[in-house]
Amino acid sequence: MNIHEYQAKELLAKYGIGIPAGHAATTVEEAVEAAGKLPGPLYVVKAQIHAGGRGKGKFAELGPDAKGGVRLAHSVDDVRSDAGEMLGNTLVTIQTGDEGKQVNRLYVTDGVDIESEYYLAMLVDRASGQVAMVASTEGGMDIEDVAHNTPEKITTITIDPAQGFMPHHGRAVAFALELDGALNKACQKLAKQLYTAFMDLDCEMLEINPLVETKDGQLLVLDTKMSFDGNALYRHPDVEALRDETEEDPAEVEASEYDLAYIKLDGNIGCMVNGAGLAMATMDIIKLNGAFPANFLDVGGGATTEKVTAAFKIILKDPAVEGILVNIFGGIMKCDIIAQGIVEAAKEVNLSVPLVVRLEGTNVQKGKDILANSGLPIVAADDLGDAAKKIVAEVKQAA
Ligand code: GDP
Ligand code: MG
Repeated sequence: MNIHEYQAKELLAKYGIGIPAGHAATTVEEAVEAAGKLPGPLYVVKAQIHAGGRGKGKFAELGPDAKGGVRLAHSVDDVRSDAGEMLGNTLVTIQTGDEGKQVNRLYVTDGVDIESEYYLAMLVDRASGQVAMVASTEGGMDIEDVAHNTPEKITTITIDPAQGFMPHHGRAVAFALELDGALNKACQKLAKQLYTAFMDLDCEMLEINPLVETKDGQLLVLDTKMSFDGNALYRHPDVEALRDETEEDPAEVEASEYDLAYIKLDGNIGCMVNGAGLAMATMDIIKLNGAFPANFLDVGGGATTEKVTAAFKIILKDPAVEGILVNIFGGIMKCDIIAQGIVEAAKEVNLSVPLVVRLEGTNVQKGKDILANSGLPIVAADDLGDAAKKIVAEVKQAA
């Protein structure tokens, strides 16, 4: 789960981490009010969307010459006009895709005089089973280019969670950022605070870009992105409360309400499968047959009619879907129950695209009979390879 910059900064501030003062706003009046509470004369008006690259982003409605999604404002009047331009408009950044994201919320912060920009991030490194801290002196808006062109400028320090954060980790981070004196000390302290926050909150990723040295020698978190392990959210109701569903894919939100694991992909063949492993195999075999899956969808072990219907509806909401492949192994759930669910769901949603079903497991023959006698144009398949071939052929034929 992702949260907004202002929410992440408020969480970090609780750990004693330095952030510029700021207030969130959803209207122009609130933005002006927020600026009024800050010392000025420099303010920053920042679009709050769940995507990075805002500074270099463009507003779809404002033309190529307009300013981006992070704006320095030199007066409260500028805050007013920037807020007016940004709110309600669509910001397109390298991370939003071409369709962009509507800006519904701003963060108005105290403008900082920057001496240097650094990069510091933490993530779960699955290869080593440790927490990786990634540091670079080349922070700011071009970090992707740095990673691509000069990877030697990025240092990774791994921390064994069983051992925890040690003073030498802090020194290694400060050394990687080439900091001296008081800043070096401040950085060691910050690295430890970040690690504590990361572990406490069950983060998946915590990225600070830029971390800045100010002209008056402070170390401040100027921008941050935080994401959390969805499976650990039950331990953090306060974090879960920060969820902003308007920022998430509506189909994925709906799927989570039915406890379906759904991820939209770019292809045209919708998949409904039980079990993550089988879902992966199904996607692979669709590709092997020259087509692309439109989604990953795991209906789980206890697929009820209600769940199957919800799954069909979610798959069909994607206009790219030209055919559906159902691949279910009836282990806990018997095949005849699943077949009944498929038939009812297909009738309810008025299925308009070809449907190939492969069932295997307990009561498979009963299940196949139900499908065959349903009066619906359901194509039955015998095994996984047969199913993939059939759905690809059906979609080609329908096109
Ligand atoms: P992003 O583009 O989504 O990563 O948004 P950031 O919050 O990182 O802002 C982009 C850039 O705007 C930063 O790298 C800074 O160069 C600049 N910026 C942001 N806040 C301030 C500020 O308070 N003062 C100054 N001078 N520049 C800022
Ligand atoms: Mg940034």
